[in-house]
Amino acid sequence: MSNRTLTDKAEAILARNHWVFDLDGTLTLPVHDFSVIRQALGVPDGIDILGYLASLPGPEAQPLHDKLTAIETELLERIAPAPGTVQLIEALQRRGSRIGILTRNTRDIAVRALDSLGLGGYFPEECILGRDDALPKPDPEGLFQLCAMWGTIPAEMVMVGDYVFDLQTGRNAGVATIHVDRTRRFLWPELTDIGVSTPEELLQMLPA
Ligand SMILES: [Mg+2]
Repeated sequence: MSNRTLTDKAEAILARNHWVFDLDGTLTLPVHDFSVIRQALGVPDGIDILGYLASLPGPEAQPLHDKLTAIETELLERIAPAPGTVQLIEALQRRGSRIGILTRNTRDIAVRALDSLGLGGYFPEECILGRDDALPKPDPEGLFQLCAMWGTIPAEMVMVGDYVFDLQTGRNAGVATIHVDRTRRFLWPELTDIGVSTPEELLQMLPA
C-alpha cells in the first residue's frame, strides 16, 4: 500500500504495463565517477563521453572505446542493486508488465551487470538496448524500438532513470518519466512526471 497520496495522473502512469529502465545509478547504486572516466579517456570536462568519442576519427576513437569498455568491465565488480531493485522488477513481472533496459553501456556489459544484481533472466535479451543497439539517449529511438517490439504506444510506456538524458529521452518519445534521485533534489521538474528516491519507494507506490 502506498503511504502517500498520488494524483490521478501519477496513478495512471504507475498502472502502465511497459517499463523501460536506465541501468547505472537507477537500478544500481552509482559506481561510475564520470569525471575520472573522462580523465582516463582524455575527454574534456563537462563534455558528453560517447558524443566526444563519436566525434573522433575511427582510428583515434577505437582505442578509447576499448579503454571505456575495460573501465566498465572493471566497474562490474563493484556493482550493487539500489534498495528495492529486485523486488520492484519482480513485482512488475508478476503483474505481467513488459520490462526493458535502455543504457549507454554496451548490451554485453548490461547483461553481465543484471546477472550480478540478481536480475539475470528477468529482462529478455532483445529488450536490453545498449549503445550499439540504438542511438544514444536522449535520442528517443531506443524507446521507439521497444515500443514497436512490444506492439504498444508511447502513451502506455514509462521511462525510469536517474539522469537528465533519461528524462529527455522519455519526453522526446512521448513516454512518461520517473526520476530516481537519492538526493531528492529533483533538478529537472519540467521533465519529470513522478520523482522517487529509490526503486523501493517506487515499488511502494505501485497499485496493489
Ligand atoms: Mg544512469
